[in-house]
Amino acid sequence: MKWKKPLLSLKPYQPGRTIDEVKKQFGLEKIVKLASNENPFGCSPKAAAAIRDYSPLLSLYPDGYATKLREAVSEHLKVRPEQLIFGDGSDELIQIISRALLHSGTNTVMASGTFSQYKHNAVIEGSEIREIPLMNGAHDLPSMLNAIDEKTSVVWLCSPNNPTGVYIKREDIYAFLSKVPKDVLIVLDEAYYEYVHAEDYYDALSLVEEYQNLIVLRTFSKVYGLASLRVGYGIANEDIIKVLDPARPPFNVNALAQAAAIEAIQDQAFVDECRAANQEGLKQFYQFCEDQQLKYFPSQGNFVLIDFECDGNEVFQFLMERGYIIRSGVPLGFPTFVRVTVGSTEQNEGVISKMKEFL
Ligand code: PMP
Repeated sequence: MKWKKPLLSLKPYQPGRTIDEVKKQFGLEKIVKLASNENPFGCSPKAAAAIRDYSPLLSLYPDGYATKLREAVSEHLKVRPEQLIFGDGSDELIQIISRALLHSGTNTVMASGTFSQYKHNAVIEGSEIREIPLMNGAHDLPSMLNAIDEKTSVVWLCSPNNPTGVYIKREDIYAFLSKVPKDVLIVLDEAYYEYVHAEDYYDALSLVEEYQNLIVLRTFSKVYGLASLRVGYGIANEDIIKVLDPARPPFNVNALAQAAAIEAIQDQAFVDECRAANQEGLKQFYQFCEDQQLKYFPSQGNFVLIDFECDGNEVFQFLMERGYIIRSGVPLGFPTFVRVTVGSTEQNEGVISKMKEFL
């Protein structure tokens, strides 16, 4: 086969063990999964109700323009409908952007210690990858700027950053954006935006107004609790959306996802409750870390990266055997850390008590 060469360097997706397998192996009755930054409170009951009686419509293709969802998001964000692009999760938007802009002969700049899909897609497209190490969990924007040259097509920013939870400060992002050449697309991935509570956070939508080479990515998978339905969106100026759109498969957001997301974005009371509960949950983990003198990154997301100063895989294994699935920091580039998703108060207490046992 005449495969794209870089594809051969990538491994097939490795599914984690299922909850049932873990239960069986360790003789556990209950498993709490705090590994994928999902919402422990599920989704808005209104979103769930929207798809309950959907089965008679399953034989029809979805609206390929996501017209009603577009209207709902446009209204909520106060942006024009033409400024939006929807994806089968924001994962697909990362893929679409890569497909549209990256190829051999280009390079792309990103942090090392950030969300894996930027690099994954760039490898497939044959673009040269320039990874700039994080500094104290944050993007090193001056060094990222230095890495940009005339062959740079895309710069990836993730704020709050997965897996550190650290965000980019308002003044830093303005300084950065003003210096990036206008023909370089900046992707600002804000998957965890709704959890942000820092006061000096920037307003991404004003940035989109000001900078014509910026696209902001958000998702319904996190605070909206619809990860399984797969729906994310990008916000940019209309010229960017017009060029990206043909790289999007025609029916990429399924009808159930559209129906649920319309209800979800209109239920901001649910979002507010989840954000408040997440902030309380974060405090539980911070208290634990402070009591045990463990280093951690203060997080603006729904997860915390904690340094156990030992092999993160060991912590992962210990907790899994006791019914808690979290993420080892090893594959995330933080070998002595683990990343824990903030769960309900009770789930947090549970995993913290097992972490204490480990110590
Ligand atoms: N960006 C970041 C930073 C993420 O953490 C994730 C999910 N883990 C995604 C994008 C992809 O989210 P989805 O495809 O579910 O919208």
